[in-house]
Amino acid sequence: MKTAVIGYPRVGALRELKFATEKYFNGDLTEKELQKAAKQLRKDHWDKQQSAGIDFISSNDFSLYDNVLDTAVLLNVIPKRYKALGLEESAEYFAMARGYQGEQGDVKALAMKKWFNTNYHYIVPEFEDETELLLVGEKPFKEFDEGKQEGVITKPVIIGPFTFLKLAKYTGEKKAEDFIEAITKAYAQILTRFQELSAEWVQFDEPALVTDLTEEDRALFVQLYQNILDQKGQVKVLLQTYFGDIRDIYQQVIDLAFDGIGLDFVEGKQNLTLLNNFGFPKDKTLFAGVVNGKNIWRNDYSVTLPVLDQLKSHCQSFVLSTSCSLLHVPYTLKNEQQITDRQKLYFSFAEEKLNELVELVDITKVENYFETDQFKENQEIFDRRDQFQNQAVQAKVKSLTEADFQRQPVFAERERIQREKYNLPLLPTTTIGSFPQTADVKKNRAQYKKGEISLEQYTAFNKKKIAECIALQEEIGLDILVHGEFERNDMVEYFGEHLAGFIFTQNAWVQSYGTRCVKPPIIWGDVSRIDAMTVDYSTYAQSLTNKPLKGMLTGPITILNWSFPREDIPLKDCVLQIALAIREEVLDLEKNGINHIQVDEAALREKLPLRKSDWYSEYLDWAIPAFRLVHSGVKPETQIHTHMCYSEFSDIIKDIDQMDADVITFEASRSDLSIVDVLRENQFKTQVGPGVYDIHSPRIPSVSEIKAVLTQILAKMPREKVWVNPDCGLKTRGNKEVIESLKNMVKAVEEVKKDGFE
Ligand code: GLN
Ligand code: ZN
Repeated sequence: MKTAVIGYPRVGALRELKFATEKYFNGDLTEKELQKAAKQLRKDHWDKQQSAGIDFISSNDFSLYDNVLDTAVLLNVIPKRYKALGLEESAEYFAMARGYQGEQGDVKALAMKKWFNTNYHYIVPEFEDETELLLVGEKPFKEFDEGKQEGVITKPVIIGPFTFLKLAKYTGEKKAEDFIEAITKAYAQILTRFQELSAEWVQFDEPALVTDLTEEDRALFVQLYQNILDQKGQVKVLLQTYFGDIRDIYQQVIDLAFDGIGLDFVEGKQNLTLLNNFGFPKDKTLFAGVVNGKNIWRNDYSVTLPVLDQLKSHCQSFVLSTSCSLLHVPYTLKNEQQITDRQKLYFSFAEEKLNELVELVDITKVENYFETDQFKENQEIFDRRDQFQNQAVQAKVKSLTEADFQRQPVFAERERIQREKYNLPLLPTTTIGSFPQTADVKKNRAQYKKGEISLEQYTAFNKKKIAECIALQEEIGLDILVHGEFERNDMVEYFGEHLAGFIFTQNAWVQSYGTRCVKPPIIWGDVSRIDAMTVDYSTYAQSLTNKPLKGMLTGPITILNWSFPREDIPLKDCVLQIALAIREEVLDLEKNGINHIQVDEAALREKLPLRKSDWYSEYLDWAIPAFRLVHSGVKPETQIHTHMCYSEFSDIIKDIDQMDADVITFEASRSDLSIVDVLRENQFKTQVGPGVYDIHSPRIPSVSEIKAVLTQILAKMPREKVWVNPDCGLKTRGNKEVIESLKNMVKAVEEVKKDGFE
């Protein structure tokens, strides 16, 4: 039996790629230097996997920004507006990723979306009617060659044509079907090229297969692959799926001429049943994903081995693999000094997962594997699991009743009370919470963490920043102010650090998009609030201004979704524990005179199950109530805001309204405002602030551009319901662009009012 890895993380164990790329963006590194850093990382990753004893090691899993964007560039799916800039290859690539504002023009970035049910974001490829899909790129071939030079015959990985066409956006008349011929040809050429380079296997990633498929989808998939596989020559083709099971297409898949099929046995609930029911072809190799590529807990061999036993009875040729790319887990436990050795026993990051794969293969060679030392050692850990328990919290969760999830009075009544009390102008302006985390802010935190400055010094600095931020917002003329979140490293980590039940890593970074990484906390035990977490800074900020200040919290669903969750209790219980803790904070803020409180649910949608049939039973039925529990105890006049980092919620629009917040802000500018129609059609009751400009890019929106967005929104929505704000927090941006952008935003509102409301 052999071992395979679907993909390896790429930012570097110490985020080397992030820092190199950012330096390159700032002009402090040449392109050549950036490429050199990238090459070093690829080599390190291959070395690690090779020395761990992995048989199938991927190449082209590396990316300077995003692998879907890489695929678009590989296939010449580059919209005209970027080509028109006439930039060099890599500048054009980054223009698509981040937007471009310079001598050659002014173009926004392509849209960005969550990668299936993960917190990774990909760049959405855009097809125009003029798009000429052709194999034009060299990246996968170069990286395969590079591996060869390093002594590793890799298995190149490319996003498959079906997933690529499904994820893309079509801006003209043409649809996916119109590109079948071209894309088939391109993928067949890819295989030919790899054959010339003597690759043994090529992996096509088709995670789109684990979603609900229609008859047309199935036909499209079969048509694509029949053609491609017809021309495959000597190279073996691995169809790799992950994030779920392929119940809608299993039979078609096993009938096609793939040489290997990769299935996820961690998230793919029905994959095993599919195999049991329909068998597995003798001439194919099964790549069995049994080591979790998404969570950081050690593999429980008593769960995995019986699965392998069953699989073995079906397959002649068999490879042990990760359940998905290891992109979604951090690099290694080796760089963690703060987690105790005892705790470390329970964890396994990318590097440690390599050892698990190899160990599992070893164990299965023994007939009575449960008698092996490795198995016994593994079981001993799970038997001794004595996680942090809090009986009081468990009891509180058990005793919750219907009434705890229902805020009083009803929305319309609260809206009236709040209008009367606050008398806010029409189209109130605000921000999403954070202001730029400039070098001095990060330095202050780093010094405090290292013990170089006292808590007093640390806090004093943050207060100075808050004062500056309040003054700045007053100068800009915003209506509802924020304190700026200078004390927060990350919106989830900050709360995790203040709540009982979480543990923290120092270097467990996971890529979120491009150069942005997050360091999710680990939910280790029962969660509870120890003390106030945000009250001091918020009340201080409020004391500096006569304008209303919005307190800023992260909601329970987002805390759960952006942490590594426990696997020993149901997610539902875990989220209710967190909700109770955040509820205490909400009530504390209210008691201390904060009248507007934003509870961010940036990540609500991302864990929405990929299949519709699971939406309610496995998620929304507990997620939405958890949010309601957070704010059901506040007074009618306390205005509850929430924020979401995406605009794609048409399908769960009613559920979002059911969260019963007073105001919701969300991303919209980057995805053409189509959501506004949906809001109208559904008579969305919550007041809304569709983001009027994109903060994920450094470009500054002009007044007229923002006005145009506003006009579009106001054409479709009652003006009393509309708020004006950027589409997300400003922490990743620089001060200069933030100030200019916000000034333009306020100006745009003034002009819109002048033009239309007089
Ligand atoms: N309040 C957070 C901020 O402004 C929200 C961030 C987010 O939505 N990702 O940074
Ligand atoms: Zn956001």
